[in-house]
Amino acid sequence: MCGIVGYIGSGNVPGILLAGLRRLEYRGYDSAGIALASTHGAELRVVKCPGKISDLETRIRETLPEKADAWGAGIGHTRWATHGPPTQNNAHPHLSRNGEIAIVHNGIIENYAALKDQLVHDGYTFAGDTDSEVIAHLIEACYDGDLRDAVAQALARLEGAYGIAVLSKRHPQTLIAARKGSPIVIGVCDDRTLVASDVSAIVDHTRRVIFMNDGEMAVATPGRVDVTTLAQTPVTREPRRIDWDVGRIEKEGYDHFMLKEIHEQPRALADCIRGRLLEDAGDAKLSGLAMTAAEMARIGRISIAACGTSLYAGMVGRFFFEDLAGIPTETEQAAEFRYRNPIIEPDTCLVAITQSGETADTL
Ligand code: GLU
Repeated sequence: MCGIVGYIGSGNVPGILLAGLRRLEYRGYDSAGIALASTHGAELRVVKCPGKISDLETRIRETLPEKADAWGAGIGHTRWATHGPPTQNNAHPHLSRNGEIAIVHNGIIENYAALKDQLVHDGYTFAGDTDSEVIAHLIEACYDGDLRDAVAQALARLEGAYGIAVLSKRHPQTLIAARKGSPIVIGVCDDRTLVASDVSAIVDHTRRVIFMNDGEMAVATPGRVDVTTLAQTPVTREPRRIDWDVGRIEKEGYDHFMLKEIHEQPRALADCIRGRLLEDAGDAKLSGLAMTAAEMARIGRISIAACGTSLYAGMVGRFFFEDLAGIPTETEQAAEFRYRNPIIEPDTCLVAITQSGETADTL
């Protein structure tokens, strides 16, 4: 699950979105992008790319020269891929078929395959492999002149977890956000409104923040926000004042990052596994693992090579491979493995884990 930031109001909208995305960088991500709506709705532009926020910034500078003040609203995203590799097309925002609606999404849409089949059948084409893209097309399919209604109807059809922000060319004075299982907060200022997945992306603008609950959506205009349930029952919630400094916000109120990380382990693990381990179907979805079911069925032994914390993760993996798949599994200290002459049989699957991607022994 990664980062969302949205902004509606005057000023340098691309610059504000980039600054917000930078505040979310500490969470890790593989690609980033923004969508911008011009004040009078003449244009809806998406700029996105795999890689770092600095790559996105260069791309914005190249593709949107001297237009920083032309925009009245925007949404931005840092993606951590769950469905489909980190490519240009899979980066968020995603556009609807007619190019009029842009969305960013954190989380996993569990019934996306069925929704996608239906949308393809109805003539929608998909630019990438993400689960998220169905949301943009579904909103277009439900649209009948009222954006809030279309978003509510589309969300009612989603199963899974989401935090989303939606921008539309036809409603350039409106920014919609919603959440279920993935956080969204709203920053309230006199003349502009922000939405984000994390308060750290907002506090440079305002300390007055509304924390949304699951099953709620917010319709934001410059300086105003209207929170309702998905069934559009109004919700009254006064903004809370955040007094923490940015460092403490990034630590979610804990005194140290280590304490925060210890406390967030259950949530972090659930977020990582959600949508990937399909226990009822006896299946797992691991993007990037390009093996067929027949190839996997031939595996007779698993050997996990890693160092340090990755080795501990491998030990947990051994437990699951043996328990769930019934395949004999051993863990190997990579620093020793490389100097042995290990016996690796043709049906052995070697899993090499490195958290930094740079552990020399494992590589
Ligand atoms: N499931 C979405 C994707 O793979 C969103 C991932 C995220 O939360 O960054 O694009």
